[in-house]
Amino acid sequence: MLIDYDMPLWRPPSEANSFILQATLGCSFNRCSFCSMYRTKQFVVRPLEQVQSEIRAMARAYPGTRRVFLADGDALATPTEQLLAILQALHLAFPRLERVSSYALPVNLLKKSVDELRQLREGGLTLLYYGIETGSADLLKRITKGATPEVMVTGLTKAKQAGLTLSATVVLGLGGQAYWREHIDATAELVNRVELDYLSTLQLMLDPTIEDEFRRKFREPFQLQDDQALLEEQARLIERLEPPAPLTFRSNHASNALALAGVLPRDRTALLDTLATALAGQVALRPDWLRGY
Ligand code: SF4
Repeated sequence: MLIDYDMPLWRPPSEANSFILQATLGCSFNRCSFCSMYRTKQFVVRPLEQVQSEIRAMARAYPGTRRVFLADGDALATPTEQLLAILQALHLAFPRLERVSSYALPVNLLKKSVDELRQLREGGLTLLYYGIETGSADLLKRITKGATPEVMVTGLTKAKQAGLTLSATVVLGLGGQAYWREHIDATAELVNRVELDYLSTLQLMLDPTIEDEFRRKFREPFQLQDDQALLEEQARLIERLEPPAPLTFRSNHASNALALAGVLPRDRTALLDTLATALAGQVALRPDWLRGY
């Protein structure tokens, strides 16, 4: 292999054909109770020379690269100077580069100023993937997300002011059977306060290695939602979304029972019609064995 990746390696579905470059390893937070992605890794910012050497190796093999995803869980935690050096090396190595993206955590956007984010945008960072998960302050505590709705609105607003494209995810099912309405209503409220470009839903899937911890931190018995209930969550969310700018909505992640795609508010009726057909049992849902993160 051209690059000796530090495993496990994760990337958003839309980065399937991108050059994945590990600017950092692990997640600098690593404490969300529903997430097992980086539990086996210690967070570290990789030395710049190592990252630059991988860029050079990739440039020799694939000089026509157009898209780069900076891994792991929050490459945006890298000091701004170092991130600017990585972006410069990427744009020098790949003359046809169109897009550089990374995951962003609430804490990353809190720590970087609008000016730093703007420098990164001008340096060629174009797109951030951001996990909102839920807009409910209570549920954010129960899943130990380490952020409040206000912190998320502040950070996402800063990133938008800096000119970055924003793609956010929410996790259907995070409120369980007891709090699903609170989860959806507060999530719609938060999304309606920020100018996102893309919004995707995932369905909660608890990895057996963290399920006990998730249930303990939830502080009361947690009952998972079934597919029918999750489709109802999806419909309630779509009904309530009034984004300040056209929002591309998707549920194409492999965890979802039903793949949806449209632009809100324009396609609201069509999306709700598809959901109503699925709720009536007239559309085949993705079988369990084809689902995953
Ligand atoms: S959900 Fe994101 S921030 Fe939370 S532990 Fe997982 S990778 Fe880190």
